Amino acid sequence: MDLKLYNYLTRKKESFKPLKRGSVGLYTCGPTIYNFAHIGNFRTYIFEDILRRTLERAGWRVRHVMNLTDVDDKTIRDAAKADEPLEKFTDRYAHEFFRDIAALNIVPAWKYPRATGHIPAMVRLIQTLLNKEYAYVADDGVYFSIKKFKPYGKLSGVRARSLKAGARVSADEYDKDNVNDFALWKFKKPGEPSWPAPFGEGRPGWHVECSAMAMEYLGKTLDIHAGAVDLLFPHHEDEIAQSEAATGKPFVRYFVEAEHLMVDGKKMSKSLGNMFTLRDIEMREFHTLDFRLFVLGAHYRKPLNFTWAALEAARASRKHLLESVATLKTCSGQGTIKDETEAMKVIARLEKKFNAAIADDLNTPQALAVLHELIRYGLELEAIGRCTERAAMLLLAMIKNFDRVLGLQLVELARAPSIPAEIQKLAQEREEARQAKNWQEADRLRDAMKTAGFSVEDTPTGPRIRPL
Ligand code: AMP
Ligand code: ZN
Repeated sequence: MDLKLYNYLTRKKESFKPLKRGSVGLYTCGPTIYNFAHIGNFRTYIFEDILRRTLERAGWRVRHVMNLTDVDDKTIRDAAKADEPLEKFTDRYAHEFFRDIAALNIVPAWKYPRATGHIPAMVRLIQTLLNKEYAYVADDGVYFSIKKFKPYGKLSGVRARSLKAGARVSADEYDKDNVNDFALWKFKKPGEPSWPAPFGEGRPGWHVECSAMAMEYLGKTLDIHAGAVDLLFPHHEDEIAQSEAATGKPFVRYFVEAEHLMVDGKKMSKSLGNMFTLRDIEMREFHTLDFRLFVLGAHYRKPLNFTWAALEAARASRKHLLESVATLKTCSGQGTIKDETEAMKVIARLEKKFNAAIADDLNTPQALAVLHELIRYGLELEAIGRCTERAAMLLLAMIKNFDRVLGLQLVELARAPSIPAEIQKLAQEREEARQAKNWQEADRLRDAMKTAGFSVEDTPTGPRIRPL
């Protein structure tokens, strides 16, 4: 597959080729485990899952690493508020995070390194930067000197030239007006967790966590680094600076970043108080996969506005997909070899179309349209009584194949609705009335079924009963 990805380093769609044949190193910035992740975060994780699944379906082995930030400004602040040791506090949210990704059918990463488990690698990286004079020791920590790293700004386009001499920023998160030297290491403060280091006891800054852990598992150069666009600056810019200054090698070959999940034109975020968790969605009786389908309905590089009405639409669409797949599972129409050959041709054509959509920078809305086209074709065959068991098997196999990327579990979850015995009896009596051309009685029985909440449809292979 000639997979094209939009690479933020070049701001162009480029054909993706891994550095090593057959294997892809993928690093994705994971959650800060100080609270439940919100569905904005999950938009990004679902996009990364689509990327991961696409790479695997194309035949590459993917070494996917996602970090868990379990020490930073926010985890320390909120663990103290909860009056709990940092580890106990962050463990709880790590557990919730794993529950949520499983509920969204996100394929687990190869490694989930935690920052606190990799402090020596961060200390080594910072020491290298000090030795090479890209870093310096200040009164409250060790800082990276961005004017020493000439390419600073190459990813996000911020201009290091606006830097005031000696201006520093120690906060883990800061905005575009703060193009300053940033903290690699923060010296011990009372009540904060700390680790020993040759340059003084303290704790790592957020950005250095990702560089150290990414290189620990994936080597000096990663094939792909993913996240959402809010990470371009400062997080990914700082990651590039630290890593490339230390190794002299390109840190990342492709930066791919998702646009945000929005609410009323604003980014969903904890600080704005406009966030929902997966639990909020489940409490309103949505399935977590309704949300997954909602996310796939937009291209990952377009902002996506969250509304409950849009989620309702996704729910209705998923219900339709599941019902349709359930219908295909029970196909037993008559058909000739010619019909089956024709079906194979249509399915093969749609497979190509699906692959082209996904290969074009992961165009999931287009891919979903192809899935609908495939299902529509199957239902049409069924309606004219030509969906043979073999044709149905081929259709279901292709739906499963598409689902290796989409992850909607359509074939696994589609169940033929259970029809109560008394309704089946009514349908049987109606069929007998029809055979006897007793149309009045047949209509009466149809109405009786309707009152009980079922419809009946006459197909060439017999009556089909469905819940209304
Ligand atoms: P955080 O826990 O804030 O570090 O965010 C975890 C991941 O979610 C990062 O990749 C962020 O870029 C991403 N993210 C945060 N807010 C949103 C949002 N509203 N829409 C999409 N992705 C987001
Ligand atoms: Zn990161």
